[in-house]
Amino acid sequence: PFEYAPAPESRSIVDIKPSYGLFVNGEFVDGHGKSFKTISPATEEVLAEVAEADEADVDAAVKAARKAYDKVWSKMPGRERAKYLYRIARIIQERSRELAVLESLDNGKPIKESRDVDVPIVAAHFFYYAGWADKLAYAMPHSAGRGSDPQPLGVAAQVIPWNFPLLMLAWKIAPALACGNTVVLKPAETTPLTALLFAEICQQADLPPGVVNIVTGAGGTGQALVSHPGVDKVAFTGSTEVGKAIARAVAGTDKKVTLELGGKAANIVFDDAPLNQAVEGIVNGIFFNQGHVCCAGSRLLVQESVAEELLAKLKRRMSTLRVGDPLDKNTDIGAINSAEQLARIRELSDIGEAEGAGRWSPECELPQHGFWFPPTLFTGVSQAHRIAREEIFGPVLSVLTFRTPSEAVEKANNTPYGLSAGVWTEKGSRILSMANQLRAGVVWANTFNKFDPTSPFGGFKESGYGREGGRHGLEAYLR
Ligand code: NAD
Repeated sequence: PFEYAPAPESRSIVDIKPSYGLFVNGEFVDGHGKSFKTISPATEEVLAEVAEADEADVDAAVKAARKAYDKVWSKMPGRERAKYLYRIARIIQERSRELAVLESLDNGKPIKESRDVDVPIVAAHFFYYAGWADKLAYAMPHSAGRGSDPQPLGVAAQVIPWNFPLLMLAWKIAPALACGNTVVLKPAETTPLTALLFAEICQQADLPPGVVNIVTGAGGTGQALVSHPGVDKVAFTGSTEVGKAIARAVAGTDKKVTLELGGKAANIVFDDAPLNQAVEGIVNGIFFNQGHVCCAGSRLLVQESVAEELLAKLKRRMSTLRVGDPLDKNTDIGAINSAEQLARIRELSDIGEAEGAGRWSPECELPQHGFWFPPTLFTGVSQAHRIAREEIFGPVLSVLTFRTPSEAVEKANNTPYGLSAGVWTEKGSRILSMANQLRAGVVWANTFNKFDPTSPFGGFKESGYGREGGRHGLEAYLR
C-alpha cells in the first residue's frame, strides 16, 4: 500500500470536443455512418463521441488520398516534402504536453511514459524520416545502378492498434510520407483521439489536403479500408488473427503488405548477469505500458542456479510499483485499455492458476472505477501452460527456468511468435551466439524495450513480415 501523489498533470491543457468527425481532404467532415463513444479506461468517463466511417466515407478518404498523390505529393521534390515533415515534428514537440495528456486519458498509460517515451519518439520519427525524404534516390540499395529513382507506391491504407496510438501512427505515416505516398489511417476504436489531434497538427503544418486522411471506426472500417481497390499498400499493426484475415483479404491483388503482429518474447537471464540491472529490465519488459506491448518480455527464462535470488529481488521491486491514475506523475502502471482486454487478462491468469502455476502479486489497492490489473507473476510455469504460449497483453509475467544455453534457446524459440527477445549476461560472445540462434526480429542485450527511429523493427513467424523503422522502413513504401 502507498499514498498516491497529489497534483496530477492537469487535463485542462487538452481541449476535448464533445464530438469528432473524420479527417478527409484536409478537413473535418461528418461521417455517413454511426458514431461511437471513446472512454477513459481509468474512470470509464465518456471522453467524446467519434464518427464511425462507413464504406462511402472510406471511399471518399481513399479518393482524396489518390488525388493528393497524383496532383501534389508524388510530384513534389523530396526536399519540399521534408519541410512538411520537419514542421510536423516541431509542432509535435511544441504540443507535446497536450499530446501526452490526451494519450494517457484515452489509452490509460502513465503520463510519465506518454510524456517521456511515446511523444518524444513520435517526434523523433518525423525528424528522422524528414531527413530521408531528399536522399532516397542516392541511398536506397535498389536504386543503385538502375538508372531510375525508387518510386512511391501510391495510397497507403494503415490500420493501427490501441497500445501506442501515436507511436504506431508515427511509424506508419512518417516513412510513407517521406517516400511520397499519401495515406488513409485508421486508429483503433478505443483510442482515436490523438490521431484526430494529429490531424489538427497536419492542418497547422499546412500539409496539402488529402496527403493524410484519418478515418475512425472499428474492424468494419478497417476491413473496408484495406480491401478498397484504390489502395496500393496495406500496413497493419495488430493481432495475428486480424493480420491473417487481412492477408487473406488482399491475396490476389497487387497490394504490397506489411504486418506487425503479436509476440510472446523471452527475456533470458543467465547466471553471470548483473541481476539488479536484469530486474529493472524484466520490470520494464513486462510492466511498461501495462504489458500492452507486442514485444513485451512476457516469458522470463532464468538460469536455475540464480532463479531463487532473482525472483526474490524481482518480487521486492514489484512491490514498489504504483498502480493508479494515469495522469499522476508517480504512476508506474496505469489502466488496462478496455473492459474486453481486462477480461482476457483475467481469463488467461485464472487459467494459469487452474493449470497449476503459482500466482503472486504484490499487495496493492486498485481504484474503484475503471479497468485495473495488478502486476502479476506466475512461477513454476512450463511450456504446457497456456500462459507460456498465448499472448496475454497485460502486466502478467510467466517464469520458466533452464539449465544450459541450448535449453534456453530451445525454450525461447518454442513459440509461434518471433518478434523480440532479451538476453542478460556479461559474456559478449554469448550475446552474439544467442542473437544468432533466437528466431526473433529484435534481440536486446542487457536492456529491453528500447526503440529508436534508426532501428528496424519487425517479426519472424506469426509476428508478421516487413520491417518498420530505419532505412528498412522506407523499403516498405517504395518500388
Ligand atoms: P486488433 O487486431 O484487434 O486490432 C488492430 C486494428 O485492426 C484496430 O484498429 C482494429 O479496429 C482493426 N481491425 C480489426 N478487425 C479488422 C479487419 N478485419 N480488417 C481490418 N482492420 C481490422 O489488435 P488490438 O487488440 O488493437 O492490438 C493488440 C495486438 O496488436 C496484439 O496482438 C499486439 O501484439 C499487436 N501489436 C503488434 C505490434 C507490432 O509492431 N508487431 C505493435 C503493437 C501491437
